[in-house]
Amino acid sequence: MIKKGLYEVWKGVERNLLGILYPSRCPFCDGVLGISNCIGICSNCEKEVEFVKEPYCKKCGKPIENEVDELCVDCMERKFSFEYGHAVFVYNYSMKNAVARFKYNGRYEYAEYFAGQAVKMYENWINKISPDALIPVPIHKSRYRQRGYNQAQVIAESIGAKLGIDVINNLIIRVKQTLPQKELSVIERHKNLYGAFDIVEEMKELYRELKCVIMIDDIYTTGSTIEACADILKGSGIDKVYFLCICIGKK
Ligand SMILES: [Zn+2]
Ligand SMILES: [Zn+2]
Repeated sequence: MIKKGLYEVWKGVERNLLGILYPSRCPFCDGVLGISNCIGICSNCEKEVEFVKEPYCKKCGKPIENEVDELCVDCMERKFSFEYGHAVFVYNYSMKNAVARFKYNGRYEYAEYFAGQAVKMYENWINKISPDALIPVPIHKSRYRQRGYNQAQVIAESIGAKLGIDVINNLIIRVKQTLPQKELSVIERHKNLYGAFDIVEEMKELYRELKCVIMIDDIYTTGSTIEACADILKGSGIDKVYFLCICIGKK
């Protein structure tokens, strides 16, 4: 009993010390949050956050104008091989800045808030699907060296830890350095991602039991990235590929 008590006191002290040394920051204004703030966002920004809500596309999860359409324009025109997926936030102006800091300015700690909100919104859905693993969209190794982390992996690990789901980082790799999809036309986007991902052959045997996974990424733009990964995963014997992205555009 005493041992546990002391341990808990120590954990509390450690948490507070860490909070002083590495204060967590609000993803939307980058302001330092107080130690007592456990939701991971400041009260001003909390009002500004735009969550994805219904009606949304049944395939990609993008908010749509009316409830009559099941799918957004993009998903009506294109056939994807992934099952379907969800996103947490609308990619608005403040989200754009938050994601830019998260990816390019070393603010990987934002993942805690992003993952926390993802779990809050989609825990039931994730449990219903009951995936064998979460698979973050990989980044190219040169980008990893430059950035020091894969933003999708940090989110996946946080979600995985909260829900007790394995995260697999070594089954698919990004073999081609790609340009940001948003700067390209539709045809260029296909070309850009063609051959961008590959399965790690030596890992196929280890993960042969995998049947159902959820891909994790930071932004859903056209679906081409998730689709390229889903193609590879399905080709290696995985039956169901869903996705969960932190943010998505609005139609
Ligand atoms: Zn804020
Ligand atoms: Zn859609």
